Amino acid sequence: MATELYAEIADCPRCTLARTRTHTVPGSGPMPCDLMFIGEGPGEREDALGLPFVGRSGQFLDELLATIERSRRDVYVTNVVKCRPPGNRDPKPAEMAACDEYLRRQIEMVRPRVIATLGRFSMARWFPGARITQIHGQPERHDDTWVIPMFHPAAALRTGSLREVMKADFARIPDLLRDPA
Ligand code: URA
Repeated sequence: MATELYAEIADCPRCTLARTRTHTVPGSGPMPCDLMFIGEGPGEREDALGLPFVGRSGQFLDELLATIERSRRDVYVTNVVKCRPPGNRDPKPAEMAACDEYLRRQIEMVRPRVIATLGRFSMARWFPGARITQIHGQPERHDDTWVIPMFHPAAALRTGSLREVMKADFARIPDLLRDPA
């Protein structure tokens, strides 16, 4: 049950991010759900509200979802770490390892047909050693799921030219959702 998992995450003591978080940010969206997005970790606003992608990156994510006629209500969104790294630094390998069991259970519960990774940390879980600039938008089958690596929306906010790149990568999602598993 999502409520049990979320309660467990809310009490999680597994890494030092527990000491500095305001709220845990387990994820949001229906379970099961055909489409799942996995980002890096909560930022300031996410930490304050306990919800993923509610800041500027989230606004752009909503824009991208609209281009494929989806909305937050019908996608599942989470991160590789469920607590904010202080100052929005990169999550550390030990923090991602401590949190990975939660992500694994979420994937089991969501049972997505398509996972879109947002940024290099979630990408590395399925594409170790790969470079985002070389493999973005190129889906790969992992068991019964398509995994498509994407830039992080924050990268597109920093580098405007990536906005169109992300839109083109998103445009591949509907076909993957239709592909029989
Ligand atoms: N960036 C992320 O990777 N995740 C969030 O939830 C918000 C911003």
